[in-house]
Amino acid sequence: MEETNKYYVKLIYSKGSKFDNPRILNKHEFNLKLKQQQLSRKQKGSNNRIKSRKKVGFVHRKITNCREDFLHKLSRRIVNENQVIVVENLNVRGMMQNHCLAKSIHQVGWGMFCTMLKYKAEMSGKIYQEVDRFFPSSKTCHVCLNQVGSLPLDVRFWTCEKCQTRHDRDVNASINLRDEGLRILTSGTGDKACRPDVSRSKGGRKKSTTALSVGLLPTLTAKRERR
Ligand SMILES: [Zn+2]
Repeated sequence: MEETNKYYVKLIYSKGSKFDNPRILNKHEFNLKLKQQQLSRKQKGSNNRIKSRKKVGFVHRKITNCREDFLHKLSRRIVNENQVIVVENLNVRGMMQNHCLAKSIHQVGWGMFCTMLKYKAEMSGKIYQEVDRFFPSSKTCHVCLNQVGSLPLDVRFWTCEKCQTRHDRDVNASINLRDEGLRILTSGTGDKACRPDVSRSKGGRKKSTTALSVGLLPTLTAKRERR
């Protein structure tokens, strides 16, 4: 199972490597800033202002296309290389309110990425599984399952008090997510996977490709036990 499940949420590889946004985006973003600056200097109502606005729109489209292209290629690769894909059901709207996180979440387009992963997995007969966003993936030590009380977002590395294992925050979280995802899948019922107060919203992406086909979806909203 280790090998079939190489990619994790936050785009983290099981061996500890992480995926970044394509560097080309930085170039376009710089260009966007430039074009916006030029626009702001044009006189209101002038023809040059209209032309300049068109240029800004062009760069915006370019950035959108680049981002989508990157997500399409990455999701295709992940689906091709893996049997099971476990992702964290991130609270994107809540994170957008956190200023530090807003930019990275927006850039990666997490919701769009999950949708791509899901339908590509469906088409290829692979398993797509979402893990509830309240699952304490970051705060749990994946070795001894000890849970720390709080873990501020700027702490990238931490040491477990019980077993003294030193963790990379993201890698540890991704291993916990993989285990939780596999637990949901192997238990078959997905019991204790979610809290009752986070029932799935109507429409949009469904949580799992298997749960749907086997008709297990209602049980996915059962209460999860804290480990
Ligand atoms: Zn530990």
